[in-house]
Amino acid sequence: MANSKCTVHIKRRDFLKLGAVTASAAMGAVGIGGILKNAAAATGAFTGPVYRTLGKTGLKITVVSFGAMLTPEHEVMRAAFDLGVNYVDTARRYMNGRNEEIVAKAIKGIRDKIYVATKTVGSSGTRKEIFQDVETSLSRLQTDYIDVIQIHNVSSRERAFEPEVREAYVELRKQGKVRFFGVTTHTNQSEVLKAITDDQEKFFDMALVAYNFKSPPSLKEAIARAAGAGIGIVAMKTQAGGYRTDAMGPLSPHQAALKWVLQDTNVTAAIPGMKDMSMLKEDLSVMGMRFTRKDEETLRRYGRAIDHYYCSFCGQCEETCPRNVAISDIGRSLMYAEAYGSMELARSTYYEIDGKARASACLDCNECTARCVNGLDIARRMRRALTLYT
Ligand code: SF4
Ligand code: SF4
Repeated sequence: MANSKCTVHIKRRDFLKLGAVTASAAMGAVGIGGILKNAAAATGAFTGPVYRTLGKTGLKITVVSFGAMLTPEHEVMRAAFDLGVNYVDTARRYMNGRNEEIVAKAIKGIRDKIYVATKTVGSSGTRKEIFQDVETSLSRLQTDYIDVIQIHNVSSRERAFEPEVREAYVELRKQGKVRFFGVTTHTNQSEVLKAITDDQEKFFDMALVAYNFKSPPSLKEAIARAAGAGIGIVAMKTQAGGYRTDAMGPLSPHQAALKWVLQDTNVTAAIPGMKDMSMLKEDLSVMGMRFTRKDEETLRRYGRAIDHYYCSFCGQCEETCPRNVAISDIGRSLMYAEAYGSMELARSTYYEIDGKARASACLDCNECTARCVNGLDIARRMRRALTLYT
């Protein structure tokens, strides 16, 4: 555990040294204890922050920003902020509510330099629920305003247009508690982006989208249209799960995956999850790097290695399940368990799914008729979910 009492102020010079020093020496140099173990094998050095504008919000944010979802130590976030990263994405439900508290520690004393994005709870639909969500986030974040508030996990046009949710967001903005509006989406993403792009009201300022080298061309096109309409695009799931696979040997595909996303200039920023200093070094170094032929080959290899278990959450299989099982959301929960190694996040994602749409609906289904466009064995995956969560 890092010493929570020590104040971290990592300088760029120290950061650059990280690749060359041993973990224990690095601990001494920057005083952040155990979080420095597993020192990075990343290539390239951090040459400074690079910024793009988040659509019509006008916010200039770092192209590699901070996905806080699984970061246990606020010192890691603070190290990124000290190096110029200025946008952090969190949510009420991450770490059962603790994640916003960790962000609060990281932004203490520098709140005016960091843009904070969080989310109202996916199931919240009434004015009262939305207000409660925002008040709770404000209290946990120890701040009096949120820069970007997002409706969590939108998978349909209808959800993005719920009048009561919109009214609550507008009222919160009038009260100065939130500044900009966004959606987050994993499933039916192109449809969701199209809906908010064509919205006469132009209600949303940004969207947080699962986007990586495995995404279909249709999503790239939807992102381009949305960006053209002034909607800032932030990319998540940029590592396609970040699975560890023997097929890659010592080669890490993570920088290549991040570069692939950032070469698309319609994307403002990516928010890779950074749990420790090793990940931070690997990800931040990508700012300013170009996507190369070697990266392309790395991603081809990585893509082939994960093909037989990677779910893109496209949701296309769900039409072929007579019981409307939420196969894509269950797939996402499996990724949290198997690739991210977070059973807490996996379980909370699974139990957010409506009871009738969970894998338990498969128990007395005689024959699985659900078909994956990528050839995944859906029945097997549902059995896996049942084993993990029940
Ligand atoms: S076994 Fe397959 S077809 Fe049957 S409910 Fe489950 S996912 Fe749907
Ligand atoms: S199981 Fe296949 S079809 Fe279903 S969401 Fe995942 S990738 Fe798409």
